[in-house]
Amino acid sequence: MNAPFPISETPRRPLSVRLATPRGFCAGVDRAIQIVERAIEKYGAPVYVRHEIVHNRHVVERLKARGAVFVKELDECPDDRPVVFSAHGVPKAVPQAARSRDMLYLDATCPLVSKVHVEAERHHANGRHIILIGHAGHPEVVGTMGQLPPGAISLVETVDDAETFQRPGEQPLAYATQTTLSVDDTAGILSVLKRRFPELPDPHKEDICYATTNRQEAVKRLGEGCDLVLVIGSANSSNSARLVEVAIRAGARDARLIDDASHVDWSWLDGVQTLGVTAGASAPERLIEELIAAVAARFDADVTEDDGARETVTFKLPRVLTA
Ligand code: SF4
Repeated sequence: MNAPFPISETPRRPLSVRLATPRGFCAGVDRAIQIVERAIEKYGAPVYVRHEIVHNRHVVERLKARGAVFVKELDECPDDRPVVFSAHGVPKAVPQAARSRDMLYLDATCPLVSKVHVEAERHHANGRHIILIGHAGHPEVVGTMGQLPPGAISLVETVDDAETFQRPGEQPLAYATQTTLSVDDTAGILSVLKRRFPELPDPHKEDICYATTNRQEAVKRLGEGCDLVLVIGSANSSNSARLVEVAIRAGARDARLIDDASHVDWSWLDGVQTLGVTAGASAPERLIEELIAAVAARFDADVTEDDGARETVTFKLPRVLTA
């Protein structure tokens, strides 16, 4: 009989893990998800949702399991079921079409995106041509451009675009931005526009939202002191993608966007002494907890939470869901 040799466990390597504060869900995402959940509770399944309610695969899958049906366009929804518009906002033509079909619709547009819509309308009413700084094709940009007639807004995506932008007529100019841009990139684009068009008014308030700004500040602190930063978020999430860029610029040797812990290639952690972890505004905290558990199973992890802005913003739900 073989002697029962004890299995010698290799001692796990120490790893310092820093969690960003704040991270994960913002008030607009939280509200949008609650709108879909409450609509299913109130009206029963299926509830249709035009576009991904927020850009996170896990959130979308969980809502699908509860009875949400995700569609690209309103044409795919029957007249007699409720439809929710996503947090990114929709062109004006969409609620108009829903009204013309007597549909029950719930608008989950983040109030901070709606604020940009109102600003754009105000500039237009004041006779200004609007430069929108944002990413072509992103639903928020499509929604904001769709608040006004074609030609009223010009999209500028990069510093090069800002250098070559041609004023379309004699109208004075104004600008607005997508809410989830890189704070630093946007400042660069704005400085070019201001140099070329000194009459551009200062924004009365920053369009890049508090959640984007706070998460970028938090990941900047991680990037300054971490070898690797893991950002939980889906590839189509604008604010999550920006966090990866900000971490690298702040000094991280490497930064990766992952949907969840199963997407980690553990060889990324070779030689890493300090790992930073954060999540985009549409990523649930559960995914962070699962990632930390996966890290702790492989390393002697010392997990600490960074100091950072404490967020207290909340947004009300539509009255029809709370009555
Ligand atoms: Fe609203 Fe900002 Fe969250 Fe987008 S990231 S839903 S604009 S709070």
